[in-house]
Amino acid sequence: MSLKGKTAIVTGSTSGIGLGIAHALAGQGTNILLNGFGDAGEIQKLKESLAKQYGVKVEYSAADMSKPAEIRDMATLAEKTFGGVDVLVNNAGIQFTAPVEEFPDDKWDAIIAINLSAAFHGIKAVIPGMKKKGWGRIINIASVHGLVASANKAAYVAAKHGIVGLTKVVALENATLDITCNAICPGWVHTPLVQKQIEDKAKVGNISVDEAQKRLLGEKQPSQRFVKPEQLGELVVFLCGPAGSGFTGAALNVDGGWMAQ
Ligand code: NAD
Repeated sequence: MSLKGKTAIVTGSTSGIGLGIAHALAGQGTNILLNGFGDAGEIQKLKESLAKQYGVKVEYSAADMSKPAEIRDMATLAEKTFGGVDVLVNNAGIQFTAPVEEFPDDKWDAIIAINLSAAFHGIKAVIPGMKKKGWGRIINIASVHGLVASANKAAYVAAKHGIVGLTKVVALENATLDITCNAICPGWVHTPLVQKQIEDKAKVGNISVDEAQKRLLGEKQPSQRFVKPEQLGELVVFLCGPAGSGFTGAALNVDGGWMAQ
């Protein structure tokens, strides 16, 4: 089934991986509901440039993914603007690192809310419409940290393991319908979220940012290369296309060999 004329919500699509996914879906002729934080003027420019580049309709919701009511409003906006939601990509996410005993309670709550609960609220809001249409694709951007752990990432690892579990449940509940739910588990992707971790590493180790980047890749990602947002965008397109329709409940790691170790 073609993606042309369909509608996708991509949460956290003002930056990084979400933006790469929005480009890839728009490139297939899919109308896009953008979401995420950022400068209002920049977001307006992004809306216009995506619409012009791909000849699709683009809408924006400023919904804060830590607020369930705003997530529901975002789904309603997509339905009103485009007549429904065919593809939901739960991508918005944040990071904070500290040992468990020093991990601030408010950071734990925010990471669980944005990286895990937001996907639940979004899926809950769009499933009835997908059932009516008899077609839907839900893609949760988890992480290799949905499959294995790293020190100092308690909330992130818990949320990402949680979203892999949620993916499986949603897949099973809709298995006989043409509604699939899969998780993508990237390794390191060079986005603002990771840039901050590189800079923190440089500061703590008193080393250059370049050296910190090399060490970050060297510790976990055998390819020594970052995965690119556009590669993840292509995987989303694949999962939404005919060849991807047999995948449901899968957690697909795209990680330069991280999970092979
Ligand atoms: P990023 O910081 O570049 O982008 C995050 C996006 O989420 C931005 O658009 C931001 O505005 C939005 N966002 C943050 N908080 C929000 C909130 N409360 N409500 C709405 N939007 C909000 O990060 P990224 O690296 O592109 O990460 C995207 C997803 O990919 C995250 O779920 C992250 O955990 C996951 N991921 C990233 C990597 C990586 O190496 N970068 C690896 C694995 C998984």
